[in-house]
Amino acid sequence: MHKDTKRREALLYHAKPTPGKIQVVPTKKYATQRDLSLAYSPGVAEPCLEIEKDINNVYKYTAKGNLVAVISNGTAVLGLGDIGPEASKPVMEGKGLLFKIFADIDVFDIEVGTKDVEEFIQTVKNIAPTFGGINLEDIKAPESFEIERRLVEELNIPVMHDDQHGTAIISSAALLNALELANKEIDKVKVVVSGAGSAALACANLYVLLGVKIENIFMFDRAGMLTTCREDISDLQKRYAKSCEPKSLKEAIVNADVFLGLSVGNILTSEMLLTMNNDPIVFAMANPVPEIDYNVAINTREDIIMATGRSDHPNQVNNVLGFPYIFRGALDVRAKKINEEMKMAAVRALAELAKSPVPEQVNVAYGETKLNFGRDYIIPKPFDPRLIAVVAPAVAKAAIDSGVAQIEINDWEKYELDLLD
Ligand code: NAP
Ligand code: MG
Repeated sequence: MHKDTKRREALLYHAKPTPGKIQVVPTKKYATQRDLSLAYSPGVAEPCLEIEKDINNVYKYTAKGNLVAVISNGTAVLGLGDIGPEASKPVMEGKGLLFKIFADIDVFDIEVGTKDVEEFIQTVKNIAPTFGGINLEDIKAPESFEIERRLVEELNIPVMHDDQHGTAIISSAALLNALELANKEIDKVKVVVSGAGSAALACANLYVLLGVKIENIFMFDRAGMLTTCREDISDLQKRYAKSCEPKSLKEAIVNADVFLGLSVGNILTSEMLLTMNNDPIVFAMANPVPEIDYNVAINTREDIIMATGRSDHPNQVNNVLGFPYIFRGALDVRAKKINEEMKMAAVRALAELAKSPVPEQVNVAYGETKLNFGRDYIIPKPFDPRLIAVVAPAVAKAAIDSGVAQIEINDWEKYELDLLD
C-alpha cells in the first residue's frame, strides 16, 4: 500500500467514529431510580464501609482487581523517541485495546507529564490504590530501570516494564526452541548482543537465568564492546563487560551461535553471518529495520534460524504474546509482584505451546496451510486462542509456588475453562 494511503488510513481509524480507541462501559444495571440509588448515593456507602473495615474488600466491591494502568511519560515511544506524554497516548490506548481483547483486562491509560524519576515514582505510587496492576511503558533508559525497581519494591501489586521484560520473555521462548532445533546446549552457546539498552539488558539477564553463561555473552553499544576498562558504562552493563582488549563486532561474531540484535538496522552483514557457527540463531529485532534484512539473511545461510520484530516474516517476537496473559495470571491470584519465577513460567509455557499441533483456525488466520514446529515456527502466533489458557495458568501457578500469590486456585481445570470463555 502507498505510504500516504497507509498514513491516512491510520489517522482515520483513530479519528472516526469516536476519537481514540477505548471507552468506559458500566457493568451494572442503571435503568431505574432504584438502580441509581444502589450505584451511587445512598447505596454506594455500604461497600465503602466494608472496604474501610477490611481493605481487601476493595477487590470484592470494585473493579480494581481487573484494572491495569498502562503508564508512560512518553520519553521512549516505539522507535519515535521522546515525543511527550500526549503524543504517546495513542500507543497507551492501543495497549489498552490489546489487554482487553486478548485477556479481558480493563485498562486506564495514564500519561504523566514529568521526566523526573522521583516525581514519576511518587505519581504512580499515589494512584496505585485504583489499580490491580501497573504496566510501565515506553519510558527511556536508564530512568526506566530505577523506576521499575523502586515500584516493584514499594508497591504490593504487580508492576512490569513491558519494553524490558515482554521482549525478554518472548525472545527467551524463541531461544529455547531455536536451541532445541539446532541441537545445542544453552550453557555452551556463544551469544553476541548488538545493543546494550533496556531490551538488550533485560533479554541477556533472562537468558542467563535460563542457563547462558555470562562469560559467553559479548555485548555492544555504539561505542563498541562492553569492557571493564570503559568508564562510560552503567552498573547494569558492567555485568557483561569483558577484559580490556575490545573486539569489533566482526571479530566477536566469529563462531558465535546466537546473534541478538536490539539496536539499529543493518548492523550485521552477510560476511559476518557466514562466520557464525552451524545453525546460527539470529534474532534481529531492531524496528522497523532489523540488524540484517530477513531475505539477505536466509539467502546467506540455509541453516539459519531467524526471528525479527516484524509481522511480515516468520517468527515475530511480539510482546502481545506475553503481557496480557502474564497480567491475567498475576491478577487472578492477586500476586504481590511479577517475579522471575513467573517470567520463567511464561517463557516455558510459550516455548511448549509452539511445539504442540496448531489449531486449524490459526492456520486460517495467518493464511498458512500448516504451521508446524520448525525453523519457520519457533514461537506461537498472537491469534492462537490457546495462549490465554496456557500462559496465564502457568504464571498463576508460579506465583503461588513462589509465595507471592494472595489467593489460591484449587480447580485448575475450571480456571482454564473459564479463561477460554
Ligand atoms: P534503547 O534502550 O534506546 O537501547 C538501544 C541500544 O542500541 C543502546 O545500547 C545503543 O547504544 C545501541 N545502539 C544504537 N545504535 C547502535 C549501533 N549503531 N551499533 C551498536 N549499538 C547501537 O532501546 P531499546 O528499547 O532497548 O530498543 C532497541 C531496539 O530494539 C529498537 O530498535 C526497538 O524497536 C527494538 N525492540 C524490538 C522489540 C521486539 O521486536 N519485540 C522489543 C523491544 C525493542 P548507545 O547506548 O551507545 O546509544
Ligand atoms: Mg513499548
